Amino acid sequence: MDMWHIVSILFGAIVGSFLNVCIHRLPKSESIVKPGSHCPKCKTQIRFYDNIPMISYFLLRGRCRYCKGSISIQYPLVEGITALCSLFLFIKFGPSLNYLFYFSFISALIVITVIDLFHQIIPDAISLPGIGVGLLGSFIVPHITLLNSLKGMLLGGGGLFIVATIYQWLFKREGMGGGDVKLLAMIGAFLGWRAVLLTILLSSLIGSITGIAFIALKGKDFKYAIPFGPFLSLGAAIALFFGEDIIEWYLYINRY
Ligand SMILES: [Zn+2]
Repeated sequence: MDMWHIVSILFGAIVGSFLNVCIHRLPKSESIVKPGSHCPKCKTQIRFYDNIPMISYFLLRGRCRYCKGSISIQYPLVEGITALCSLFLFIKFGPSLNYLFYFSFISALIVITVIDLFHQIIPDAISLPGIGVGLLGSFIVPHITLLNSLKGMLLGGGGLFIVATIYQWLFKREGMGGGDVKLLAMIGAFLGWRAVLLTILLSSLIGSITGIAFIALKGKDFKYAIPFGPFLSLGAAIALFFGEDIIEWYLYINRY
């Protein structure tokens, strides 16, 4: 591991800290710029030395310095996952536009996943600009062509119909909303049409395994809404990192 790998981890952790702010404030329609970070319980402004990604949480033993209220484990988790994704993308793409393009994509997926888990919404404030960034980025980023990005966006938006049908059939309830359509359109704009198909396949598969495991463990059917956004995001991340290998392997085993 050289210096640049460490820089990519630090950069990822700092971005992760900002993602936490987005996760906390976007569902409440608050500004993500002002005011500065404050304790959600006692509202005391958090000093810079208590706001170091991941490290501060452990130094403070998960408690606010002032009111001793507990700080959610979500904060260091999001920072750690973002830092790791930054490192893996750097290893995959090196210092390049591809890296920045897909790091912005993964960051959007992380925010969407946590907000969807806790609030069952996928904010348009992320997915709609995300579609724009995916399409515009395909002009300049070497990894994807504009045509592929456009096809991916259309197929992603349209492909939701298939996912919605499968989901309804499996869980006997409606689990899809407009938010999922826009999220899949965004995933398609960033990854292209092949990877968006793979995303639909992977997320349906992981979603159904989770559903079956849930029924087996709890011994009952889904009684509450399990949002599909996190499964779509996970599927998209797997398609981004391993999509080419999976498609190549599929073509290889089907060569006869
Ligand atoms: Zn506090």
